[in-house]
Amino acid sequence: MTVTDRPAAATDTVLAAVGLTKHFPIRRRLRTLFGQRRAVHAVEGVDLALRRGRVTAMVGESGSGKSTVARLLAQLVPQTSGEVLLHGSPVRASRRGFRAYCRRVQMVFQDPFASLNPVHTVRYHLTRALRIHHSDVSPEELLTRVALTPPERFLPKFPHELSGGQRQRVAIARALAAGPEALLADEPVSMLDVSIRLGVLNLLRDLRDRLDLAILYITHDIASARYFADEVLVMYAGQVVEGGGGEAVTQHAAHPYTQLLIASAPDPDRILGDASDVKDGGTGEPPSLIDPPSGCRFHPRCPHAMPRCVAEAPPRLPVESNGEGPHWAACWLYDTRTAAEQAPEVGA
Ligand code: SF4
Repeated sequence: MTVTDRPAAATDTVLAAVGLTKHFPIRRRLRTLFGQRRAVHAVEGVDLALRRGRVTAMVGESGSGKSTVARLLAQLVPQTSGEVLLHGSPVRASRRGFRAYCRRVQMVFQDPFASLNPVHTVRYHLTRALRIHHSDVSPEELLTRVALTPPERFLPKFPHELSGGQRQRVAIARALAAGPEALLADEPVSMLDVSIRLGVLNLLRDLRDRLDLAILYITHDIASARYFADEVLVMYAGQVVEGGGGEAVTQHAAHPYTQLLIASAPDPDRILGDASDVKDGGTGEPPSLIDPPSGCRFHPRCPHAMPRCVAEAPPRLPVESNGEGPHWAACWLYDTRTAAEQAPEVGA
């Protein structure tokens, strides 16, 4: 199989999640006095679709569950409930099936130094991946695809002889060795120098276009999502709280949490700056995921919280799209009942 070969039955949606949920059981001594089994509710009922030739950004602060979503999609951890669908078919865990799945869904990790073996050369990493996936692409071709040229210069190098950006390009080249249809990139630029982040994001965008890849871009930096993504999903406390086109979500944020993220990163040029303040999500603390807040999980931090927000979890509600495609927010502010109840006050 070559890098550009595609299955005949391919659909526009390559990879999807339906009601994806992950609870991590906590250790015995942290259980309640009554011996109840407790768990960290890391991911709760996540629905998403990764489409061919599109970048979907998943944005949220540290601990929001976005990296766990990537690992669930990559089948690195089993889900508690819900399903992962590849071209509409449920993915079932099996050793044999896992390797076939890896050929179609590859992951790029945050730390390129940790993901490459320091005692092996670039040639070894790429040749091994090509052999595992029975690919007839050459290591030189892979390096050319990620703009490490001339390839002969990089093939004999060890990871410590490369810059952070070059290491991440090698990690991406290794992922491409499988000829994937979907790439799950977990904070792929957050450990790189700010001066080279843009180059790696441009590379991923170029691969999206040339190889028609479906890319999930996990990030805590909404400014880079605004720059890079076709679609943006915003994650808070294990749940997706807003979704829509990249422009719609970042220019007309509807959910109060997204508005908080945007307020923390008002400058679109932040991609070239330090985004560490965004990582902490601005004001307030994320809730405990062992005992998450009732109703809307954002209500303890939300300036618009109403009694209803404490009692009932909001569903996905449509918000005005400004002609930029579907845009929704899981927030009671966009419910017609809330609007009707608030109308007299607005008119007063
Ligand atoms: Fe705030 Fe209520 Fe909307 Fe949650 S549902 S974000 S608490 S207004």
